[in-house]
Amino acid sequence: MPKISIIVPCFNEAEAVPYFYGAITKQSDIMREKYGVDFEYIFVDDGSKDDTLSIVREYAAKDGRVRYVSFSRNFGKEAAMLAGLESARGDYVSVMDADLQDPPELLCEMYETIVNEGYDCAAARRVTRKGEPKLRSFLSRLFYSLIGKIANADIADGARDYRLMTRKVIDAIISMKEYNRFSKGIFGWVGFKTKWIEFENAERIAGETKWSMWKLFLYSVDGITSFSTMPLAVASVIGMLMCVIAFVMILVIIAKTVIWGDPVAGYPSLVCIIFFVAGVQTFCVGIVGQYLAKTYMEVKNRPAYIIKEEGGAGKE
Ligand code: UDP
Ligand code: MG
Repeated sequence: MPKISIIVPCFNEAEAVPYFYGAITKQSDIMREKYGVDFEYIFVDDGSKDDTLSIVREYAAKDGRVRYVSFSRNFGKEAAMLAGLESARGDYVSVMDADLQDPPELLCEMYETIVNEGYDCAAARRVTRKGEPKLRSFLSRLFYSLIGKIANADIADGARDYRLMTRKVIDAIISMKEYNRFSKGIFGWVGFKTKWIEFENAERIAGETKWSMWKLFLYSVDGITSFSTMPLAVASVIGMLMCVIAFVMILVIIAKTVIWGDPVAGYPSLVCIIFFVAGVQTFCVGIVGQYLAKTYMEVKNRPAYIIKEEGGAGKE
């Protein structure tokens, strides 16, 4: 029997996990009947401070399909996904949020796409952002259109981490050992034939979002610096442009001095120029700093996560 592994990163999801467990059990029963596939669910507890761990521990004790991994602290969703992918034993693997924003019903279509249509990967893309704050949607759209243009990986607007992948794709993803993981980029970077399945945004079933605006901003900076060196090129271009402008200004000033003499003036403009140039310089140094920081973290070669406890399905 082919097996599907469902990876569920959970960070303080005690409220949502029971709903999720119910929904995914229903879905797996349907698919077992329809396609004869087996399931395993891997809950990755990303250092939750609530009862998430004890809830999944309970499920693991009574349900042979459930396994769990628990981190020693909060390492972030990317680390949780990696831990899940590394411990998944299925022939097909899917990552799903615990809050049911990734509708389990799509799994049927995804499975059929892979098995019957010869795709390696079926990914979900939401076409609406209903129920999300306007500013957040706007900034997300902006980010995706920007990264779509400058990244060397195919990243679609509204792409979720929710997708069903074959073993080959999973192995390719695990083989990418980078510390700064930006999954949406990694999925695109490894290639393979991917079909996008569109769906309408669903609101969180319980609990609240774990992403503040600030976390999202850092995530977007991470995404861009991980998959594009375009900002470095932009910084160089700005530098060159400013040199050209300065050169032209020098010529103009020399010409003016030769033709009309040298009335000393222009103190305000001088101050403005100094401020402007200093700003641009600091900005560009900041960009370089971002890449340096990334390199620093990579060179340290720290593990992406630390497991405190794991269990379920023959692990104990
Ligand atoms: N998550 C996690 N670690 C974190 C933040 C989030 O494992 O540090 C999980 C979270 O439990 C959820 C998924 O990632 O299952 C998506 O988070 P959320 O629903 O808060 O994000 P949103 O859907 O609002 O973008
Ligand atoms: Mg969510």
